[in-house]
Amino acid sequence: MTQAPAAVTPADSERKIRRIIWVVLGAAVATGMIWYAVFNATKSAPATAENVIYLLGDGMGRTQVTAGRERFYGAEGRLVMETLPVHGSVSTYAVQKKSGQPGQADFNPELVTDSAAATTAWASGIKTYNAALGVDAKGAVVPTIMELAKQAGYRTGNVSTAEVTDASPAGQVSHVLSRGCQGPDYSADACQDTEITGKPLPASDVRVTPVADQIARNGTTDVILGGGLGRFDASNETALKEQGYAILGSVSNQIPATRTALNAAAQEKVFGLFNTGNLTVEKAKQDNPEDPEAKEPSLSEMTKKAIELLDRKTSGKGFYLQVEGALIDKRSHDNDAAQTLEEVKAFDDAVAAALDFSKKDGNTLVIVTADHETGGFNIIEKGTFTNAEAAGPPVNVDSGNPANNSTPTRSDGNSKDTDRSTGITNGTGATDPKNFGPATFRTPSDPPHVKDGSKEASLWLTYASGNHAGADVPVYAYGPGSEQLHGSVDNTDLFDIVGNALGVLR
Ligand SMILES: [Zn+2]
Repeated sequence: MTQAPAAVTPADSERKIRRIIWVVLGAAVATGMIWYAVFNATKSAPATAENVIYLLGDGMGRTQVTAGRERFYGAEGRLVMETLPVHGSVSTYAVQKKSGQPGQADFNPELVTDSAAATTAWASGIKTYNAALGVDAKGAVVPTIMELAKQAGYRTGNVSTAEVTDASPAGQVSHVLSRGCQGPDYSADACQDTEITGKPLPASDVRVTPVADQIARNGTTDVILGGGLGRFDASNETALKEQGYAILGSVSNQIPATRTALNAAAQEKVFGLFNTGNLTVEKAKQDNPEDPEAKEPSLSEMTKKAIELLDRKTSGKGFYLQVEGALIDKRSHDNDAAQTLEEVKAFDDAVAAALDFSKKDGNTLVIVTADHETGGFNIIEKGTFTNAEAAGPPVNVDSGNPANNSTPTRSDGNSKDTDRSTGITNGTGATDPKNFGPATFRTPSDPPHVKDGSKEASLWLTYASGNHAGADVPVYAYGPGSEQLHGSVDNTDLFDIVGNALGVLR
């Protein structure tokens, strides 16, 4: 009798079920472990990046971005910075002198920051008073990300269209009680602050040492490109040379560097200042190509070159580069809408250079943000005018609310004060009454015959003030760790995000 095909015995089927259970259990455990690992990786250990490029448009609030987009790319366009995948907003408040940090009993906010307190916030992770650089609200020195990166073996770069001793670049590389202490000479008026220190500090204290002297001697930055040659003297030149910097132009003879010299630079440490003061606005360079100042490189040229000089990987580490489009702020202070927008475009071109590199490199975090808004810049409806131009303020519809203490009348109705509004083209300088009138610009979306400065132009721009404003600023990001910038952060959080990306906060 041939044996019947093996019947499935109860023991066989039990083994099979057990095997299935083990497979299912094993899969579940493996899946769980993977989930746990992924969850923890995203939760407690944000991705690290080989390089970080941190770009700030000084004074670049939401309106500067929107108006720049509409002016150059039309209503349906996008600036390069807006194409970055992560968008968020940054709160920027400072604190008053001698204050504690948020949450402490002596915390005392100052709602509108300047560039110095804002840079100290992201460079050192603390709130400080306006005008403070690399010191806390009680005057104590705090380390900066650029210093930490340098100590950890990263290459470092600092690029600006302002003087490199000005607040945004200086906040990464110096420690002074007052941002006016830039050099070339020490001045008690500019450098001391006895409101904080009680009695004057000795001139040997770093906190009263001019920023230029600190930059020339502390070796924090490998590649320094920008303006401000007039802040440096022969002793600074000697100190820079002793540390091996290639100096483009001449410090002792006050000969600014040129674009040609920048193109030729290939050294590890490069010091190139292209103007004795701030760099020239882009529009002026384009309009006057024969002018010596047209030999200045653009911000995007400086950014590309800085990346090329920094990306050597000789130490096994990458680089940390800060890039500032400073003239957005300076032109906004002057309520110069036309040049403000040109500088937004020049800054956006620098963002494009950083993004190009980051996409090829694959391991570079790019952050684009601002320190604060400048000017209370606004896009108003075509054909309308501002409260500043009005003979009286608008009717206050909630005058019963004691928080609304403006005069709730508009004496002669909704009419212009002709002394304060002379038309649709804005003037020059904060005292020119034309600046109260909207400046009008055509955009690529306008019909071809529409001209700048005409009432047909679609972009109508005004300023509320000649000073900084307190609105949150935008942030855009790309690359490893960028997801942490989605949503709302404070400017001090940028310290942790960059510091963790570089792994220098442990
Ligand atoms: Zn400013």
